[in-house]
Amino acid sequence: MTSFSQRLIDWYLLCGRRDLPWQQPATPYRVWISEVMLQQTQVAIVIPYFERFIKQFPDVAILAAAPLDDVLHLWSGLGYYARARNLHRAANRICKNHDGVFPQEFDDVCELPGIGRSTAGAILALSMNLRFPILDGNVKRVLARHRLVSGWPGRSVVAKKLWNLSEEFTPQQNVAAYTQAIMDLGATVCTRRNPRCTDCPLVADCRACASADPHNYPGKKPGNERRVRNTRMLLAVAHARVLLEKRPESGIWGGLWSLPELPENAAPEQWCRETLGCDVTDAEAWPVMRHSFTHFDLDIAPVVVRLDHNAASVADDRRLWYNVESPAKVGLAAPVTALLHRLQHKSDVSHDPAPAGEGKIDDA
Ligand code: SF4
Repeated sequence: MTSFSQRLIDWYLLCGRRDLPWQQPATPYRVWISEVMLQQTQVAIVIPYFERFIKQFPDVAILAAAPLDDVLHLWSGLGYYARARNLHRAANRICKNHDGVFPQEFDDVCELPGIGRSTAGAILALSMNLRFPILDGNVKRVLARHRLVSGWPGRSVVAKKLWNLSEEFTPQQNVAAYTQAIMDLGATVCTRRNPRCTDCPLVADCRACASADPHNYPGKKPGNERRVRNTRMLLAVAHARVLLEKRPESGIWGGLWSLPELPENAAPEQWCRETLGCDVTDAEAWPVMRHSFTHFDLDIAPVVVRLDHNAASVADDRRLWYNVESPAKVGLAAPVTALLHRLQHKSDVSHDPAPAGEGKIDDA
């Protein structure tokens, strides 16, 4: 029988994805950006983000020199914002330690923020055809099924088995084609819910397919029950603008601009008076919206309040009065974007004329 890797390469030449934007040309910088964007995110979603990102930041030096807010702005909606912050930090480190040239040594690549063993291997394999194994989610699934490796890959003993298989199967030549092939197979044929074994080049010796239960591989995380958290977000409207706050660098939506979250038991009117020094002239509760993270769901209860005119003079360097008709280029979390969009289309802000000047107002 033809080898595992050759069957995948042959399949890739017929059915694989060879016209993705980061493949033309597949430079280390472009592959790096794409690999980071593709973590936890599907190709079809990533493509327009990648194209906008590369247009604005065509090389490492330009990315490093850009304000983080500009990077987060282009990342808005893609989620997992630590990825964008790490890209920015890594670009600065490449400029400092490698003269702005993406490193070609595996250990140097692994030292960059946000790059682990699999991503480093993928960048070097796909852009330079260097022989390094990878083990992203798609590859884990293909290998676990083909060799019937049971258990959750988050356990080190399972991960070790899968890394050993990845090392064993990675060919000496045509590494770039093989690497793209096994990733594509996992994404398009050996999918999580609906593996199409009859279309698969590995079917002849796939143990999971022979056992007729490929869905059970790889094993699920034990006790993986989702939690639900609740929060109230305030859409405070004054002078046709909405108050945003910059989130701390760490934690969810780190470094993004978001709506203020009301403390438990705090009335919106009281919060506005104590925090902004102004009165609420009108308040409306919107239906709860759910936003899902990897490990939990966040139920957001939006509250829209219209403020009296004193409000716009109250801000500091972590507060922004955001003009929804002429938005500042800042990074916003996806549910915040959705709420601002809804606010704009309900015309809650446009009845309140904006004063002259920019949206960011200094502390009074
Ligand atoms: S034969 Fe089926 S289970 Fe096995 S690798 Fe191919 S698609 Fe996956």
